[in-house]
Amino acid sequence: MHAEIFALGSELTTGAKLDTNSQWLSVELAARGIETRFHHTVADDLPAMLDELRAAARRSELVILTGGLGPTADDLTRDALAALAGVPLVEDAASLEHVQACYRRFGRPMPPRNRVQALVPTGAEVVPNPRGTAPGLWMTLPPGDAPDAPGGPGGCTLVALPGVPAEMKPMFRESVAPRLPRGANLIRVARVNLFGAGESAVEERLGDLTARGRTPEVGITAHEATITLRVVARGGDEAEIERQFAEVRRLAAERVGELIFGEEDDTLAGRVLATLRERGETLAVVEVGTGGRLADWLTDEDDPAAPAYLGGVIETRDDRCLGEPVSPGGAAERVRQRWGATYALFTPSLSVDADVRELTLATPDGSVREPYRHAGDSAIARSRLAKAALDLLRRRLADRTT
Ligand code: AMP
Ligand code: MG
Repeated sequence: MHAEIFALGSELTTGAKLDTNSQWLSVELAARGIETRFHHTVADDLPAMLDELRAAARRSELVILTGGLGPTADDLTRDALAALAGVPLVEDAASLEHVQACYRRFGRPMPPRNRVQALVPTGAEVVPNPRGTAPGLWMTLPPGDAPDAPGGPGGCTLVALPGVPAEMKPMFRESVAPRLPRGANLIRVARVNLFGAGESAVEERLGDLTARGRTPEVGITAHEATITLRVVARGGDEAEIERQFAEVRRLAAERVGELIFGEEDDTLAGRVLATLRERGETLAVVEVGTGGRLADWLTDEDDPAAPAYLGGVIETRDDRCLGEPVSPGGAAERVRQRWGATYALFTPSLSVDADVRELTLATPDGSVREPYRHAGDSAIARSRLAKAALDLLRRRLADRTT
């Protein structure tokens, strides 16, 4: 079964609001083995909605719509569904009673306009909305072979839900999901996180692992210099899914193992702190070019009950630390001693006119310096530098376990 999702509303197409409903619904559908092939975002415009809906209902068996169920003139979802099915709208007594009851609870008279929220395309069912006035709609178009049959050869179920996420989500879980057929396959996504090379370099080293049409599917995305492998597995049961994930993890470890720092929501800062905590070791930082990103991430991810991050300083020059001049690479050792930490990391200035800078890691056995190539100013330059410093420590900690 294939699904398409419609996010309806001019506030979405004008850019005033971001459509988050489609993302949420796709994840929910995938968990039930239903694959979403299209997201449509459409303005409050009846002909535009109908165009898109006709195409979707003919080629997919499930269409979920959010938005456009309110009482105002720009709420057109009911009209679009009735026009698609070629049936009139009729007033549903139970829905009218529900809208009236909402207004009794608000302690206000029901504006006459709200009566349209009780209109239902003939033959459609109402999906109850216990948290708001707008009831949802469930409409089935039978399979039809004629070229103009609205439901297409496979028929189509259309479910319209309100746009307000706090109403839409529970309605989907309580009244829609239990009625959906389970897809033949479960669909699960796993993520493997890497740092230390660009997207194309990683792709090249992964070889056939990212080939189109491979099972499971492996895609590469980059976010602030972190590379993520997104593994999409489809299988009849959890064991089959796990077998596919395990095979990708094994091949990725073989091909790019030294770049892998974690899975799912793991971050470099989180992984480094976890390793330090296991060993009873600690970290201080002296940051120049990162503008404090290390302090920010390490503070966020540390465990206040057993801190591994002890603090540090944010400087604006490579050659001064805590108010005194330092030799190149000397700042890390000074901060390590001052904070009484096992390790200290130093990140160089990005504003200095040089292609190659140096990261420093001060350790109890002396300092390790590593060249850092600044790829030029970009929105991610500071994050990339901060991650490179954490990765230097991560690799050092990994070397010492093996
Ligand atoms: P509507 O059901 O069209 O009256 O939408 C009501 C409100 O729900 C809008 O003003 C938005 O704040 C929110 N909303 C509508 N559609 C979406 C969407 N696709 N994603 C997130 N929020 C939405
Ligand atoms: Mg709207």
